[in-house]
Amino acid sequence: MARYTGPVCRFCRREGMKLFLKGERCMTDKCAFERKGYAPGQHGQRRAKVSEYGSQLREKQKVKRVYGLLERQFRLTFEHSVLERGVTSEIFFRNLELRLDNVVFRMGFSRSRNEGRQVVRHNHVLVNGKRCNIPSARLKVGDVVTVAEKSQSKSQFRSSGELFARRLALPWVQVDHGKATGKVVAQPTRDDIGLPVKERLIVELYSK
Ligand code: SF4
Repeated sequence: MARYTGPVCRFCRREGMKLFLKGERCMTDKCAFERKGYAPGQHGQRRAKVSEYGSQLREKQKVKRVYGLLERQFRLTFEHSVLERGVTSEIFFRNLELRLDNVVFRMGFSRSRNEGRQVVRHNHVLVNGKRCNIPSARLKVGDVVTVAEKSQSKSQFRSSGELFARRLALPWVQVDHGKATGKVVAQPTRDDIGLPVKERLIVELYSK
C-alpha cells in the first residue's frame, strides 16, 4: 500500500494543532508548530472564513494524518465500520486504533506510528507467535504482539519501556517490556484514544 513520504510538520501547521507525527522531536523546541504556529504557504497567516464543508474536511484530515493513512485506505476503513453494528464513529476509531502499526506504537515499540509501520514492514514483529508484516492488520482482544527475538537487541526496542511510561496510560493494552511483548486486553474506547476531534463531522462528510 502506498504511503506519504513527504514532510509532515506542515500537517500540524495546517491543522492548527500538534499531531505528534515525529516522535521525540515533537516534545522539543525544534517542533515546527511551536516555532511557526500558522498554516504553511504564502497565505498561511491569513484568516479565512471556514465553510461547513471546510470544517468537516479539516476534522477528517486531522485523523487521517494522525494515523498516517492515504484517502483510499482511510475511506475503506470508514466504509467497513459503517457495516458493523453499533455507533459508527466509535467503531471507526476502534478499527483505526487496532491497526497493528498503531498498536506497536501504543505499546512503546516505536517512537511514532510511522516508525511503527516500518517496524512491522521490516518483520520485527510477531502476532500470536507468527511473523506479521502487514501494518493494517486488525488486532482483536487477546492478541499478543512480540518483538522478534533477533530484533530485541536493537536500541529502539531497548528503550521501549521508557517510551511507554511517558505516554498516556492505556487500559486496553498490557505490556511487559522485559519480554518485549504486549497483549490487547480490551477494545479501545473513544475516551481511551483521547484525540481532540469532532468525529461527528467526519461521519457527516462521508455520509453525503
Ligand atoms: Fe507536528 Fe511533531 Fe513536527 Fe511538531 S515536530 S510540527 S508536533 S510533527
